[in-house]
Amino acid sequence: MNRLVKVKNKDDIFNIYKNTPISKLLEYHNFGETKDGINDAELIIGTCMDNRVQLNIPKNFAYVIRTGGSNLHNSSFYVSYALSASGVKTIALIVHSDCGMVNLGGRKEKIVNGIIKVTGWKKIYAEDYFKSYAPICEIVNEVTFAISEVKRLREIYPTVLIAPLLYNVEDDLLYLIDDEQA
Ligand SMILES: [Zn+2]
Repeated sequence: MNRLVKVKNKDDIFNIYKNTPISKLLEYHNFGETKDGINDAELIIGTCMDNRVQLNIPKNFAYVIRTGGSNLHNSSFYVSYALSASGVKTIALIVHSDCGMVNLGGRKEKIVNGIIKVTGWKKIYAEDYFKSYAPICEIVNEVTFAISEVKRLREIYPTVLIAPLLYNVEDDLLYLIDDEQA
């Protein structure tokens, strides 16, 4: 099942997102459109901390909350604060391809050894640390995580338009995720 829709022109944007800050985000990032003189935020973006995710958006356009895996479970107050401070009623949840928060368990040794190498922590401590955090931070699959995270956020914020997207680190474009609501 291909849930990813590559947005190459305005016709590719789902009707539900047309003339919203989600379509503006796609126009700025994918089509290279620019705009000066934006004073107030129009969008809240939740995305991953990964260095390859580089969004092309105008100054002041969006609040951006970055976490591992675009996981907003522990950022609830930041989301609520941004909604409150800006009066914005749209959120873009942007996961990305090749996310490091996928398959943490399968890369345990490499990650633990990397932490030890950089920090000098004792092995037993680094392993316990990994055991405590990896299950909370694991997202299993980027696309299915985005869909479930957006579903969770829509229950918390029913009056807010919330869209799942994917940033492809191969072509640096944003893709819409068809979650059957669009
Ligand atoms: Zn990531």
